[in-house]
Amino acid sequence: MFILERTYDFSELVRHNVHTHSVFSNCAKPEMIPEEMVRAAQRAGLKTLVITDHSDPGDDIDTFAVYRELKKRMNAVQTPVRVLIGSELSAYGVGKYAEPEEVDRALDFASYSHVHYHLASWDQPADRSPRGYALHNLAVLTALFGTGRADHIAHPFSPTKMNFFNEEEKAATLSAISDAQLGDILEMGEKAQCSWEIHTPSFLRFPAFSRRFFNLGRELGVHFCLGTDAHSLASLDPTALAPRLAEIVR
Ligand SMILES: [Zn+2]
Ligand SMILES: [Zn+2]
Repeated sequence: MFILERTYDFSELVRHNVHTHSVFSNCAKPEMIPEEMVRAAQRAGLKTLVITDHSDPGDDIDTFAVYRELKKRMNAVQTPVRVLIGSELSAYGVGKYAEPEEVDRALDFASYSHVHYHLASWDQPADRSPRGYALHNLAVLTALFGTGRADHIAHPFSPTKMNFFNEEEKAATLSAISDAQLGDILEMGEKAQCSWEIHTPSFLRFPAFSRRFFNLGRELGVHFCLGTDAHSLASLDPTALAPRLAEIVR
């Protein structure tokens, strides 16, 4: 399900942050209290805030319990911001998902990570070259789109968590994906009613791929949403990034 109308206008995309972590994620700062996050979003003039706490394979987090708790607390908050409760779910291998399908469907926003390769519980490809990872990414996403589970792909193709590769090898996992392969997978996601994230840290770090990804997506008419992967209140507001992001795709 799409939560944002199709737009390629960065001044609009930055008003909706669909990737943020609250204190229900271990990695978030203690200041990421859900009510404080909503207040910060309101101060920044955001229209949408989506809280997407981690749901990794083998963690001891009850994703559905976190969802219910956050829903209850957010219902008590008065704000003009549209607040959605999602989760950063895990497609940790081809056809492998960390949560039962009913949990995914209950969430306001099922955002899927397919690239948390730094986790011990994540499947690695048989071919551990940059090209091997590129092909693994495509296979995991193809299987995921066949399930209809995902509303969104968090940090698509991002090699930032491939800590075993240097910067050049990380970029090579992106250049190994041809325009034809990228176009096919973007269209598959669109047919599955799944939006693609403009993940601001990765988007700025790998500009050559970002330009290809965004412009091809725009040509094909896919849905994009923007996320900062905020772990602190300071990184919750993407509005100041709009000119830099627009410059990359020019
Ligand atoms: Zn992530
Ligand atoms: Zn995240």
